[in-house]
Amino acid sequence: MEKFYYQAIKELRIKNNMSQKALSENLGISNRAVSKWENGLSQPSAEHIFSLSKIFNVPMDYFYQKPHINTDKEPISGMNSITEIYKIGRGPSSSHTIGPEKACKIFKSKNPTANFFKIILYGSLAKTGKGHGTDTVIKKTLLPICCDIEFNFIDENIPHPNTMVLIAYKNDLEIDRARVFSVGGGNIVFENSYVESLKTIYKHNKFIDIAEYCKNGKLRLWEYVKENENQQLESHLKEVWETMKASIEKGLESEGILPGGLELQKKAKTLYNSQHIDETPETKENRIVCSYAFAVSEQNADGKTIVTAPTCGAAGVVPAVLYYQQKKNNFNDEQIIHSLMTAGLIGNLIKTNASISGAECGCQAEIGSACAMAAAALGELFGLSIDKIEYAAEIAIEHHLGLTCDPICGLVQIPCIERNAVAAMRAINAVNLASFLWSTRKISLDNVIQTMKETGQDLSSPYKETAEAGLAKIKF
Ligand code: SF4
Repeated sequence: MEKFYYQAIKELRIKNNMSQKALSENLGISNRAVSKWENGLSQPSAEHIFSLSKIFNVPMDYFYQKPHINTDKEPISGMNSITEIYKIGRGPSSSHTIGPEKACKIFKSKNPTANFFKIILYGSLAKTGKGHGTDTVIKKTLLPICCDIEFNFIDENIPHPNTMVLIAYKNDLEIDRARVFSVGGGNIVFENSYVESLKTIYKHNKFIDIAEYCKNGKLRLWEYVKENENQQLESHLKEVWETMKASIEKGLESEGILPGGLELQKKAKTLYNSQHIDETPETKENRIVCSYAFAVSEQNADGKTIVTAPTCGAAGVVPAVLYYQQKKNNFNDEQIIHSLMTAGLIGNLIKTNASISGAECGCQAEIGSACAMAAAALGELFGLSIDKIEYAAEIAIEHHLGLTCDPICGLVQIPCIERNAVAAMRAINAVNLASFLWSTRKISLDNVIQTMKETGQDLSSPYKETAEAGLAKIKF
């Protein structure tokens, strides 16, 4: 018997307004037995399937059929605020730490009388949850209430690769249950409108439409963002920029070994202080920008505070290029914040039309998106036209297409830290190319975002944050 019964039982029970307790009494079994069926932890006997078919008035076959799971996103209309792209939080992984933390906070606040929680992690959350510290964050968030965390490695029949089930108990009786998807960058989606979804504040969600609107209204991209967002955006971005700078500065001072067991040395400080014998301005720029990206990424791997841009794993790319430019060319904070607005808009387009989750689309969705954001930020800072900014962002994603997510031991360290530095340099390269070659381009940003989504869907699951393939197979 395949594990299709569990969804059918739960769906029928809810459809018939029946509690787990009522169903268990009807069947003459324990409440916990029904709970285990619904979680796929045990399966009903043929006799119980027969009883269930009578109770719910459905044929027995109903419990053996593959359920229709709708994995398609809702038809897209508009976009949410770019504040969802920039979240201030602790590393090392937005979808494995910030997202689950947020889900647990909401669930805990909805169940103030609960005296026990059970959390079941599926897919990538189960496979790399230990390395990313998901269990530690969940336990801390639910304190002082105790919780049991189960890593479900078996169930593949899940609607999203980062799925978690939260169950609240009071005196051994289940009082609430919710299924949540951690969709990348610390964003979460509760199933069945358990909580109100975010408001759409942008009416456009394609770059082509935004560009046309801006050109007609003679707006720069950051002005378009400002026109759509509320007044809190600027103060949020000021805090974001301060946090980004602090993560670079603290990362450059930090030494020692990163936690997790790989015995990986922190390198930002060494990189910053080293010098080539025959250092040219170009090699110096490379070294310094990379040291900034290492600094943030090492802070992230160390569980320190960083800003998702758009995720924790890719948090070093955008701050590295902007901090370098501020130091080199004295751009003021206001100019940097405008560039963060434009970068956030690009991240938002990718999040809305494809994905920013390594578990969903591989590293192209994290580092590729961060690189596109950084290239667009630089384009804004240098006052490039909308077409040139678009081309810079497009180049940046295009040359990350197919990039897999294969973190060794499930830790956001190898290849993640170096990958941030390489992407920062690639963003600089992309903006330089775009400023010369924009008039010859053939591929739009919207096209490449769609391609990234399709490529991500075609990537096989072991290459999407499961630590099962690629570099992750190397044993230490
Ligand atoms: S390989 Fe890329 S997507 Fe995967 S954890 Fe590292 S930075 Fe994130």
